[in-house]
Amino acid sequence: MEICCSVVVPMFNEEEVIEYTYYRLKQVMDCVEEGYEIIFVNDGSRDRTAQIVQDICKKDSNVKLIQFSRNFGHQVAISAGMDYASGGCVVIIDADLQDPPELILEMLSKWKEGYEVVYGKRLKRKGESMFKKITALLFYRLLGSMTQVNIPLDTGDFRLIDRKVCDVMKSLKEKNRFVRGLVGWAGFRQTSVEYVRDERYAGVTKYPLRKMISFAVDGITSFSHKPLKIASYIGVTLSLSSFIYLFVVLFQKWFELGTIPGWASIVAINLFFNGIVLMLLGVMGEYIGRIYDESKDRPLYIVQDTTGFQREGAHPVA
Ligand code: UDP
Ligand code: MG
Repeated sequence: MEICCSVVVPMFNEEEVIEYTYYRLKQVMDCVEEGYEIIFVNDGSRDRTAQIVQDICKKDSNVKLIQFSRNFGHQVAISAGMDYASGGCVVIIDADLQDPPELILEMLSKWKEGYEVVYGKRLKRKGESMFKKITALLFYRLLGSMTQVNIPLDTGDFRLIDRKVCDVMKSLKEKNRFVRGLVGWAGFRQTSVEYVRDERYAGVTKYPLRKMISFAVDGITSFSHKPLKIASYIGVTLSLSSFIYLFVVLFQKWFELGTIPGWASIVAINLFFNGIVLMLLGVMGEYIGRIYDESKDRPLYIVQDTTGFQREGAHPVA
């Protein structure tokens, strides 16, 4: 049977939930009359996630598994799923059941109405820390104010995309991938379905603060040059004000207006300006590092093994 819908599930150490996730997904997808596939992408898990999915693959021919050679990251895992998907539409969903699989049916009906992108909009987030909620709220607004690309607020990667959009995603070769931004950038007819984001069914978040920060920096640098502009504005303002201060100092010296040997002020000014200069260099560094990553042109991910695909081996659908 022709595959109508491919469901892509990125997983990193999800042994506690993955079996139940499969069960919930299967219940939903069995309601879809057309054929479907569920593609689990194992992003270098160090627990039993892969074995569990492999056992499922043996029993269910709709289930497929892509195994990375190591952890390449959530956004890369999603991209690999899209590369291998062969459905007329592709749904991306987290493995931890924070995104309710039942919503896929609603997404499919919107797709059948003619929308090419149906994203899940989070009305509320349950079971997440205040810190995560606030930083997420601020991040989406900051990103929105920095870029011309239309990235809907408060949406994650839980979404349905049409084959046409999936093909666009496959043609984008950039290494620092911020998938929800790329989908927004691609355009097409987009709509949303609203939902309340549940707690994780089991296990802990795979996004510690370090990964959250690098995700946010990827998002901003991939879609905005504003930090570079802000850096140069700060630079211009600071050099202007120091130039003015230079005249004040010279004026005091020439007219002998009692220049007090001010060690403290010199140290303070030095620290302040050096701090700013280093910070601005860091901003430049972020962009230069990304240029370097692109220029190396390494593959986005390395597949160690695949299970359940018709063409066994490590080749995505052309
Ligand atoms: N994930 C992944 N690779 C990673 C980190 C996370 O594939 O390096 C997967 C994870 O298994 C889950 C999804 O990405 O299916 C979202 O991660 P998580 O639920 O931990 O993030 P949160 O919902 O807490 O932001
Ligand atoms: Mg989660």
